[in-house]
Amino acid sequence: MSRTLLEVHQLETSFQRDRQQIKILRGVNFMIRKGEVLGLVGESGSGKSITSLSIMRLFHGTTGTIDAGSIKFDNQELTKLSEKELRKLRGKNLSMIFQEPMTSLNPVMKIGKQLTEVIRLHLGYDKKRAVLHAVDMLEKVGIGRAEEIMHEHPHQLSGGMRQRVMIAMAMACHPSLLIADEPTTALDVTIQAQILQLMKKLKEENDTAILLITHDLGVVAEMCDRVVVMYAGEVVEEATVFELFANPKHPYTKGLIASVPKLGESKDELDSIKGQVPSPMNMPAGCKFAPRCEMAMNICLKQEPAMHEVGSQAKCACWLYEAKEVNHVHG
Ligand code: SF4
Repeated sequence: MSRTLLEVHQLETSFQRDRQQIKILRGVNFMIRKGEVLGLVGESGSGKSITSLSIMRLFHGTTGTIDAGSIKFDNQELTKLSEKELRKLRGKNLSMIFQEPMTSLNPVMKIGKQLTEVIRLHLGYDKKRAVLHAVDMLEKVGIGRAEEIMHEHPHQLSGGMRQRVMIAMAMACHPSLLIADEPTTALDVTIQAQILQLMKKLKEENDTAILLITHDLGVVAEMCDRVVVMYAGEVVEEATVFELFANPKHPYTKGLIASVPKLGESKDELDSIKGQVPSPMNMPAGCKFAPRCEMAMNICLKQEPAMHEVGSQAKCACWLYEAKEVNHVHG
């Protein structure tokens, strides 16, 4: 089994709103091995994206702070690094791609200049070698007229092309970890499939680990080795991709899987989870999923369940796998 590359332990992140500190992540734990693809899933508001921004410490222009916990990447404690030290890691060992490519592309700079700047900064190549590497990366991500595109601005490209350029930029310095936050959500299905294939290929060539943040369980099934399910700022289930789909444990995970449309099923037939993710300003006591859970017992309303092993490679935080006294609240 490969060694651990990233280990997130008891991570707590908060944001300030109206002079109040609002806790968004409430003790997140997970790890990624070298070369592994880990899916981070959950509805919007579950804390997936804040987890990735916390790892990269990309809180610019916001009030986000890491209050507690540790993020160990390649034996370095990221929470203790200065902004300067972190900048050296970002783009080189640690890269990120976003749903919206314009988040990482500069609209007024030509593609070639953006790519070669990253390559020269992190790999120390001279200009000529950096240009050759940039063109090579653009070709690797399936851009046919790579040399021409080097002289174009991002707005001259289609959405799918911009996404490819962003992946080329993120992969140019052969990062050991790529964080991909909903990388294909804005793209049509054909382009989405191509981009996923491309990420897989680049991952295999460079043994890159990927933290794939998505709400799309189809993408998870296609890409991931293991899955971490988040709800209301914490991890509620963790399993291999096979185990998660074959035998989901947490009622929330079961709900997520049941709400994926199957062939021939109409939208009205979908078994979606009723209710909404609670607001971080108004978290219920006990299990945070209890107000929406049909299996809720009295203990769920009072005490938060701890994470327990529920299989050789599976963990789940739910009283159903601990308490025998079943005293259902709903139904
Ligand atoms: Fe449902 Fe209780 Fe499990 Fe929470 S702990 S998911 S409320 S059964």
